[in-house]
Amino acid sequence: MQIENTPKKSLGQNFLIDKNIINKIIEIGNINKNKTVIEIGAGYGNLTEAILSMNPKKILAIEKDKKLSLLLIKKFENIKNIKVINEDILDIIKNRNLNNNSLIFGNLPYNISTQILAHLVTLNKWPPWYNHLIFMFQKEVADRIIAKPNTKEFSRLSVLSNWRLDIKKHFDVSKNCFFPKPKVNSTILSFKPKKNNFFHLKNPKNLEKVTQILFSNRRKMINKNLKKLFKKKLFLLNELNIDLKKRPEELSNETFYKIAMKYETLSD
Ligand code: SAH
Repeated sequence: MQIENTPKKSLGQNFLIDKNIINKIIEIGNINKNKTVIEIGAGYGNLTEAILSMNPKKILAIEKDKKLSLLLIKKFENIKNIKVINEDILDIIKNRNLNNNSLIFGNLPYNISTQILAHLVTLNKWPPWYNHLIFMFQKEVADRIIAKPNTKEFSRLSVLSNWRLDIKKHFDVSKNCFFPKPKVNSTILSFKPKKNNFFHLKNPKNLEKVTQILFSNRRKMINKNLKKLFKKKLFLLNELNIDLKKRPEELSNETFYKIAMKYETLSD
């Protein structure tokens, strides 16, 4: 592979160069000719090429870096079912719904990987336009996403993603599989939207707010932060029987969802 311009750290550019790993990632998607695939951060198109070899109906390759997107257009100029989009994925997710039932791959730019996931979980329309996400995260972030309550990794990210997604861990990927080599190892996770989610919120932003405030000081008991959220209406939580002396990591996922539902009633 020829590297024509210096990889940009600011865009999280660590290109996957290990063919075996690329193929193992692609296999997870069960790509066939009926599937529309979206790739976040296509880079030099290493993953893109492997996706194309499975003959999907269509690929949208999203790449923020102008130079790389021009390179991708050139590389795939003779291929009809690919469209290169030179835009920021966060703007795309915020502003439009892409193809229904699409499968999204992403060796994500690490500086915004959690933002990308949070944006995809908190879409207003649910079930969402995508039906399968296959993402690479740095290992520590993946550990926080899959963490269970009562562990030190349990975080806003676990609460948020478990709210609407079924999550699966596939395998770890050594930092040696990338160029330039990052400092940390990575992990592949996949996500499928839950169709019926019991904890219905009118506005997903309320769960973001509740988790942000409650996890803002993990070592502190939750009573102060709950007062911050509910002010004089803390009594609304009475029926949830929450022990206010607990720390945020000791609450179950469901408790966070129930708190968010109560929080929502404040603005009625
Ligand atoms: N998929 C490629 C590249 C992964 S590196 C591979 O595995 O080799 C991450 C890629 O995401 C880089 O090409 C980077 O330019 C791109 N990127 C970074 N921020 C982005 C954003 N906000 N929107 C779209 N692409 C972005």
